[in-house]
Amino acid sequence: MTAIDGLPPLRAVIAAHGLSARKSLGQNFLLDLNLTAKIARQAGDLTGCDVLEIGPGPGGLTRGLLSEGARRVVAVEKDSRCIPALQEIAAAYPDRLEIVEGDALAVDTAALLTQPVRIAANLPYNVGTELLVRWLTPPEWPPFWQSLTLMFQREVAERIVAQPGSKAYGRLAVLSQWRTTARIAMALPAEAFTPPPKVTSAVVHLEALPEPRYPADPATLSRVVAAAFNQRRKMLRAALKGLAPDIEDHLNAAGIKPTERAEQVSLEAFCALARTFTD
Ligand code: SAM
Repeated sequence: MTAIDGLPPLRAVIAAHGLSARKSLGQNFLLDLNLTAKIARQAGDLTGCDVLEIGPGPGGLTRGLLSEGARRVVAVEKDSRCIPALQEIAAAYPDRLEIVEGDALAVDTAALLTQPVRIAANLPYNVGTELLVRWLTPPEWPPFWQSLTLMFQREVAERIVAQPGSKAYGRLAVLSQWRTTARIAMALPAEAFTPPPKVTSAVVHLEALPEPRYPADPATLSRVVAAAFNQRRKMLRAALKGLAPDIEDHLNAAGIKPTERAEQVSLEAFCALARTFTD
């Protein structure tokens, strides 16, 4: 029995269900329920919210989210071995945990949720960044969620909050800061996980803004920023020449020097550049 919910400790759950961590699924589990409750608190006030959790694994963060008062948790897990362990949590929290077995990149999660919605996840890094970009770039804004509380490698977390002029500034910074306020909420040492990964991790919290900071079409902005940072050491007139034959005119119209590099360009200027393709 544990202090937060009366369910067995996670080590016992993992042993009982034979949940040896699989590298192919990016499995590094959080077993300290005080820590998972602390991460859940970074997501804000959960009472009255549906929480979408991606990659619950044996359910450490799930239990944190439920004990912190989430109205309902919808948890999407790809590894079928974890489902029976999650069902035990669902039984302890009647009507508050819905388990979906599947690949989060393929499941239509928005359809399973009732507003207001917060999202929380401790995911493998490649799935996490792919989902983050999808959550940030829907055609319409505001999105179906209010906030994202996501675990990343520390280096990726720093890319999300980076400012122009720094090495970490790139596509993730522009797309994140365009439509959300993003901050690093807490850092976690590798030893917080079982097995410990090679790198340190951090929880990033992003709150959706009521509207984007500057107008731009999301698909166009994504395309422009991806091209600009793909060849980040090149001058923009060279890095972006594939976007339009008259790219220098677009850059000038947006107030960006064609000889500048992507790293120097502000979010506002990237949005202005994206608008030259659509207005
Ligand atoms: N949330 C748990 C925790 O904090 O202990 C597990 C974290 S572990 C880093 C990542 C989890 O995501 C694993 O349970 C893994 O099976 C799951 N996962 C990996 N890829 C996934 C995907 N595409 N869709 C859903 N779950 C996925």
